[in-house]
Amino acid sequence: MIDIKKLVRKNIRNLIPYQSARSIKSNGDIWLNANEMPFPKKNTFFFKNLNRYPRDEYSLLIRSYASYLNINKINILATRGSDEAIELLIKAFCEPKKDKIMFFPPTYDMYSIYSEILGIESVKVFQLKKFKLDINTIKKNMNNIKIIFICNPNNPTGTIIKKKDIIKILKISHNKCLVVVDEAYIEFCIKKTSIDILKKYSNLVILRTLSKAFSLASIRCGFVISNYKIINVLKKIIAPYPLATPVLKIALNAFSHSNLDYMKYKILKLYRNKNFLINKLKKNFHVKKIFPSYTNFLLVKFHSSKDVFNLFLKKKIISRDQSNKVFLKNCIRISIGTKKECLSLLNSLVSKKKDIN
Ligand SMILES: *Cc1c(COP(=O)(O)O)cnc(C)c1O
Repeated sequence: MIDIKKLVRKNIRNLIPYQSARSIKSNGDIWLNANEMPFPKKNTFFFKNLNRYPRDEYSLLIRSYASYLNINKINILATRGSDEAIELLIKAFCEPKKDKIMFFPPTYDMYSIYSEILGIESVKVFQLKKFKLDINTIKKNMNNIKIIFICNPNNPTGTIIKKKDIIKILKISHNKCLVVVDEAYIEFCIKKTSIDILKKYSNLVILRTLSKAFSLASIRCGFVISNYKIINVLKKIIAPYPLATPVLKIALNAFSHSNLDYMKYKILKLYRNKNFLINKLKKNFHVKKIFPSYTNFLLVKFHSSKDVFNLFLKKKIISRDQSNKVFLKNCIRISIGTKKECLSLLNSLVSKKKDIN
């Protein structure tokens, strides 16, 4: 078992967290303890009593996410998007000028950005061919590493890291650092989740979000799933009342049986669009390579990403050029849209051919 106390920054270990009015358990129904206005505001859309700080909704959400994942609620924290979780983890565990984080480019930018903001050095171990992890180099660079971030499936490549490689890293890192697996896109390939090995590795942290497959990007809601000791450390430093009542209510609704069924249906629909797009792009003369995708986006290497980006733009289609990232010259990341949007995208590439002919 990993000694979490030893891993936490000393100042966080010694911190006595703020006690919000709601966190002090008391019986009663006249609420005069939190300096709220007693009069509800009018016109708050579907939401009532927004004059009050959130009450039970946070723990209700945790309970429903726990039952969705079939794990204990003490292993879950809800955050303002999973981006906040990345920040909280670095803040709680990494001592500036001493500890480092490690991640594997090309990958999600926020690991690097939060570490920079917080004054934490990052060690980048580039992925190998076919976007595999370089286990040997990882092993050799473990000095002062406190957190390893693995994005799985990876953004922006759309590829997957094999479970056996994740386990290798968990073994290398055991008792020395946390291994954070960012599963923002996991619902698109749910069999690849690392949730099943959570009990076995007490230094494993999994990040999830409602922003992608759950179709709730605008409410900013994510989850940390881990050993309860790690969750308790994060609870110490997260803001009081971390999620807003409307967010909590909408998030809670996402876990009803009918909404979960609807999500699965939408994922299948998206996969149909994705396969359609792949088959058409394969034959397009701009395209050099389409990377295997386990997500709701495609990484496509073109002969010229700049030309293609501009062709898209001419048709008012916004994509994400990844050329500035290591190994991704001339690559564009394309989110899978509706069938109609996929067709517009394909049309924008065809018109160029006509221009040439
Ligand atoms: C989109 C994304 C996130 C951010 O999720 P939020 O919950 O919206 O903050 C985290 N990690 C990866 C890899 C993502 O692509």
